[in-house]
Amino acid sequence: MVVEMSSVAEKRDYYEVLGVARDASPDQVKKAYRQAALRYHPDRNREDPEAESKFKEAAEAYEVLSDPDKRQRYDRYGHQGLDRQAVHDFSGMGVDDIFSMFNDIFGGSIFGGGRGRRGGVDLELQVGMTLEEIAQGTEKTIEFERHDVCEHCSGSGSEPGSPKRNCPTCGGYGQVEQSTGFGALFGRVVTACPACRGRGMVIATPCRRCRGSGRERKHRVLAVQIPAGIQDGQGVRVSGEGEPGESGGRGDLHVYVRQEQHPFFERRGDDLVCRVPISFPQAALGAKVEVPSLDGRIELRIPPGTQHGQLFRLAGKGLPSLRGRRPGDEIVQVWIEVPKKLNKRQEELLRQYAASEDQSVLPESKGFFDKLADFFSGGKENREQKGD
Ligand SMILES: [Zn+2]
Ligand SMILES: [Zn+2]
Repeated sequence: MVVEMSSVAEKRDYYEVLGVARDASPDQVKKAYRQAALRYHPDRNREDPEAESKFKEAAEAYEVLSDPDKRQRYDRYGHQGLDRQAVHDFSGMGVDDIFSMFNDIFGGSIFGGGRGRRGGVDLELQVGMTLEEIAQGTEKTIEFERHDVCEHCSGSGSEPGSPKRNCPTCGGYGQVEQSTGFGALFGRVVTACPACRGRGMVIATPCRRCRGSGRERKHRVLAVQIPAGIQDGQGVRVSGEGEPGESGGRGDLHVYVRQEQHPFFERRGDDLVCRVPISFPQAALGAKVEVPSLDGRIELRIPPGTQHGQLFRLAGKGLPSLRGRRPGDEIVQVWIEVPKKLNKRQEELLRQYAASEDQSVLPESKGFFDKLADFFSGGKENREQKGD
């Protein structure tokens, strides 16, 4: 009971906790919470005993600020405005429960959703993916180095067959009791003995392969399934493929996706945007043009009178949705290209066309050397004419 009272008295401002402005949009609140939760996740902050309480503080702030009703009450009356029932007591909850509570913002099996606390060290890797791979979903072969259990001594650090000694610090129990100043919940905690790192034994003869560390660097090759439609910067968690912890267990491997540039497409969410050049006559008269798509060429009908920059939507030709919604579209933007060079006949026709529209155009172009001569002799009038 004493715990709760002190924690209520010391409550920080929710906006301050998440580091957002008072008029932050729901989206900004969500983003800020997601960042805080990942930053303070206890798995990532083994050395920082405050991380867990910060993690819970952020969860509480998010619960209030993400609910329009609770947020309004909080804005008006502060912490007093929220009765006990309105806010969960996160202090007694496990980290995993909090993660699953807000599962929607971490996106199911994608990184963050229901991570296990398995007492190891998490690893992070990046993998490049083309849009074609993202469209299909793919299996990526990933190679990396990690600290692993030494095979020679099975992680004990002791040369096999050598005698072992009980740890003098913990008397062989592997655990010691410590008091911490944090959150009365953790007033006295039992932790792994720092002298023997929880093994209960000290090494008399160090393993000759790992020199007593119990660890060695190992090369690992792994096939990782990346789901279709994954976004740039999102990741997949492979549980149990991180590094081993001091007292057994193994961390997770997080594989983040970096989307590679595509020669034709730019990605906007699940939509793909593609710029396609067409000629002026094609735009004016209409045409059928071939445009690229992720599954081959597509014939696109350009109606007569199409304008520069006009958009055409090819429904369902974008990327599949990671969340199982309908797939994105391909959006073709047409770009009218002006020919840089015309042959005699083309120039004649265009001049006739301009005349029919009563448009003023420059007189027939001269050769480069004629123009150069003009420029240096009577160039001034010439340039003024052109300026019309
Ligand atoms: Zn060893
Ligand atoms: Zn010990």
